[in-house]
Amino acid sequence: MKILIVEDDFASRKFMMDYMSKHGECDGTADGEEAVEAYIMAVEDDDPYDLICLDIMMPAMDGYQVLKAIREMENENGVAPADQVKIIMMTALSEEKNVMKAFEMGCSVYCNKPVDVERLESAMEKLGLL
Ligand SMILES: [Mg+2]
Repeated sequence: MKILIVEDDFASRKFMMDYMSKHGECDGTADGEEAVEAYIMAVEDDDPYDLICLDIMMPAMDGYQVLKAIREMENENGVAPADQVKIIMMTALSEEKNVMKAFEMGCSVYCNKPVDVERLESAMEKLGLL
């Protein structure tokens, strides 16, 4: 499985990359613009991501904007719903009220931060990735 970790906080990104490396090949980006670039590059290389773990709160382009951009590109490219990249939104508890917005925008599932690995595992299972 090919995974993209999008997280502006270094320690959280490192934790996620170390942890998720047991599930596949992980790339990491520290901001939203780079995440969109990574997504496009992978699609162009015909080696798209299976999973994106996407932080919500990031400077400049936040997780919602990244989610929106990716779903729009998938629509433009005629990607079938079942073939859309799975996206787990990573959210601090204080942001939980905003999570519905993420679902409306096409997020697959969300996990609270700090990350509980059991929750993360069950999220991946729910998405059919394990
Ligand atoms: Mg953040």
